[in-house]
Amino acid sequence: MNIKFWGVRGSIPSNLMTQNWAQHFENLMRDFFASGYRSADQIELFMSQKSLPEIGGFGSGTTCVEVIRQNKSLIIDCGSGIKNLSDHLVKSGQILAQDEYHIFMSHFHFDHIMGIPFFVPHFLKGKKIHYYSVQKDTEKIVRNLFTKPTFPVTYESLQAEIYFHSIRPYEKHHVQGMEVTAYRLDHPDPCYGFRVEAASKVYAHAIDHEAVRISQSDLGLDGGLFKNANLLYFDAQYMESEMKTKEGWGHGTCDRGFQVAANFGVQQILFAHHDPSSDLQTLCEYKKKAKMILHERFSELSENSQFKWDYAFEGQVVEI
Ligand SMILES: [Zn+2]
Ligand SMILES: [Zn+2]
Repeated sequence: MNIKFWGVRGSIPSNLMTQNWAQHFENLMRDFFASGYRSADQIELFMSQKSLPEIGGFGSGTTCVEVIRQNKSLIIDCGSGIKNLSDHLVKSGQILAQDEYHIFMSHFHFDHIMGIPFFVPHFLKGKKIHYYSVQKDTEKIVRNLFTKPTFPVTYESLQAEIYFHSIRPYEKHHVQGMEVTAYRLDHPDPCYGFRVEAASKVYAHAIDHEAVRISQSDLGLDGGLFKNANLLYFDAQYMESEMKTKEGWGHGTCDRGFQVAANFGVQQILFAHHDPSSDLQTLCEYKKKAKMILHERFSELSENSQFKWDYAFEGQVVEI
């Protein structure tokens, strides 16, 4: 399985402003010379010593994830990041060959639906789009997005065939050669995470999750989402020190993610739903703090050479 992260931000698309990017690149150039480099053929070496987001940022799009296996794929959520996927389908020509799209919706907060009107297959004859959700409202939500005067193209004039499937939590659904099971997350209105399984590999999607419940006994059936996941995609919008004022908002922290990983035998964790107010510098600082937290408090994970973790960036692909 390959999991591709087309949008990793939370709440609203956000990015550095032009002047901040200019300042960032000036700092990188100063760093290049301060590190003793002098010529263009040393640029590659200089860049290889930094992580990709330290150079290019974490991206601006909100949640959209694609799970790919043997030329078949599922999409989870339609944040503004789905525009990146849509552009990729068009530019690569893949859109000509792919007639079916399968989209799982976690919930309907704006950052998870705002990309729907910009997903090009909706406008093309011969395409079939399948939406899956536990909540019953998906059809109403999608119809409302394609409504004048907030969007110029009406739902009735869309060329694709669109189907809405209601799924039940804790039941396996076979879609595109993968098994998908929905579990309840700690988030208002409500919100569901998805466990995607194929060929003994597990991707666990837990974005928009406050992780108030962390132990198996507190989670009950919902603990099934995390069990022995090869990759857990986890909401770490905040740090624990911020949670006093953010309690009940439905977003988690890296501490809680590490604890879930330790409790449920998770092999790799990727933190996302980055706060719109967290700029590049803030996220790099979060990452440094997370490294300290891991070493100080979760020795069973930090001493396990198989365990991996990171803060997700737009366009990242993880193979499991
Ligand atoms: Zn969200
Ligand atoms: Zn939400």
